[in-house]
Amino acid sequence: MAILPIVEVPDARLRETCAPVDAITDEVRGIVADMFETMYDARGIGLAAIQVGIMQRIVVIDLQDRETEEEDPAPEAVRAPHAYINPAITWVSDELSTYSEGCLSIPEQYAEVTRPARCRVTWLDLAGERHEAEYDGLMATCMQHEIDHLNGVLFIDHISRLKRGMLMKKLDKLRRGG
Ligand code: ZN
Repeated sequence: MAILPIVEVPDARLRETCAPVDAITDEVRGIVADMFETMYDARGIGLAAIQVGIMQRIVVIDLQDRETEEEDPAPEAVRAPHAYINPAITWVSDELSTYSEGCLSIPEQYAEVTRPARCRVTWLDLAGERHEAEYDGLMATCMQHEIDHLNGVLFIDHISRLKRGMLMKKLDKLRRGG
């Protein structure tokens, strides 16, 4: 396993559309293992393969028993790693919810994002089995955020131009060490 470098904005690779995984091979399982290691190291709760420069429809999520993203990472004992191959949203609720979202590709920046409160998702697991589930709460938000990545969409695309401008300015300042 290896910790992979995370692709950050404004890298154009983050705007590409990822290709479906054809077959669940050892290579795919290796990518998933590296993605988990990278996500835990970066203290994230979700990561899409595109964020480590691999343009395939692969997502890993582990909410680590947290209610919100602001809480400290949970210890290894409560880890619940889930890998989603070719995840697709098949239904979203009319009801909306708002969470403060962040992204490992947009370091240390957060914004309130409103999305459907619930969604249904289909995916393949690492054994190639097809699954379908309905999610709500933080998991629904996280799933929509990660599947957005596979289509070249970032959470900052869901906020106003003004807020996006302010956020990118803060990121510039952070990078300059200010
Ligand atoms: Zn993200």
